[in-house]
Order: sequence, then C-alpha cells, then structure tokens
Amino acid sequence: MKHDKENIMVILSSPSGVGKTTLTKKIQQKYKNFKISVSHTTRTPRSNEVDGVDYHFVSKEKFKELIDKEKFYEYAKIFENYYGTLKSIVDETIKENDILFDIDWQGTKQLSKFKNLNLIKIYLITDKKELKSRLIKRNQNTDEEVKKRFDSFDEDIKHWNDYDYIIINQHLENCFRQIENIIEINKTNNFSFQKTQ
Ligand code: 5GP
Repeated sequence: MKHDKENIMVILSSPSGVGKTTLTKKIQQKYKNFKISVSHTTRTPRSNEVDGVDYHFVSKEKFKELIDKEKFYEYAKIFENYYGTLKSIVDETIKENDILFDIDWQGTKQLSKFKNLNLIKIYLITDKKELKSRLIKRNQNTDEEVKKRFDSFDEDIKHWNDYDYIIINQHLENCFRQIENIIEINKTNNFSFQKTQ
C-alpha cells in the first residue's frame, strides 16, 4: 500500500543490551504521535512482559502460518526464536502515527526493500566491555543467553553501514538528545507533529 509520506518510521537497532528498550520508551513518552511497533515472536515472555504490549507472543506453528501467508514486512530468527513485523499493523498505524521499530539488522535490510516506507534507520552502539555488565545487570537472561547475546556483538556491528545514523550510547541523555535531533530534522515539514515538551 502507499504510505502517507508525512508520517515517519524510525528503526532503532543495536547489539542486544545497548539500551534500546529504555530509549524507545523515552521517545514514545516525549513524542505522543509515535507508536511502538509491537512485533510477533515465538520467544517465551519474560516475567515483566505483557502479551499485546511488549510483543504478540505466538507459537512456532502460528508464526510459520503467518510467514506462509506473507503477512510479514520482515521477520528474522534471532537467538533461536522468530521475530517479525506484521504488514497489517504497520499499514494501519502509519495512517495516523509515526512508528518506532525496535528490530535487528536482518529486519532492517528487509524493510529497506519496500520503497514506499518512509524509513529513518538509526544504529546504536556501545563499548563492548560495558555491554557485558549491562547484560548481566538487567538480569533478564540465563548465563547461556547472556553469552550468546554478548558473542553476537561482533556479527551485529558489521551491519552498521546499512543505517542512516550511528549513535554511541555512552550516556543515555546525550544519546536521547541525538535521537531527538534526528526526529526533528526529519519532521520539520510536518505541521501536525505533536510535541509534548
Ligand atoms: P529480545 O528477545 O531481547 O526482546 O529481542 C531480541 C532482538 O530481537 C532485539 O535485537 C530486537 O531488536 C529484535 N527484534 C524484536 N522484534 C523484532 C522484529 O519484529 N523483527 C526483527 N527483525 N527483530 C526484532
């Protein structure tokens, strides 16, 4: 479908544990017009996660059915689980809102092929040493999962070149300010932009 060029789609990608989720929430709090794209996943929910809010949690069978019916703009296998973005959700949301995607480099590559999407691609990176302590501190993954996520860092950062902006997340507020600048530059011609601060 043809999308309204006034609304933008911001992709935030990073190696696991760089602080994307916190930043995504901050963006949504500040810019009320932004909706976070809620992905489908076959991953088991974490204790603090809510179905339909953090993800749509589905079985592998259901996910496969959605792939076969070509319902996804993009999907990827990450750490043994599948994650994907439904076309119908994006096409409906973009009519009224800007969209924020927290997806990986594989999904970004696939979304980039749809020339009708008004994408702004941001890659967040952090110091590798700091990353390990963050992954352990957030206490959401088993030791084995932390190792897998940490080990994927080198592979992940090879794809920085597919993005429009690269931000180093050393200090959360600085990082957020840079994202604000990117959003505002890209929204300058949109008079209906609702900024709350
Ligand atoms: P987590 O399991 O920590 O919630 O997410 C793991 C990774 O999956 C993160 O890097 C996140 O950006 C990525 N991810 C979440 N949803 C999607 C999606 O719909 N598509 C793709 N390609 N990646 C996703």
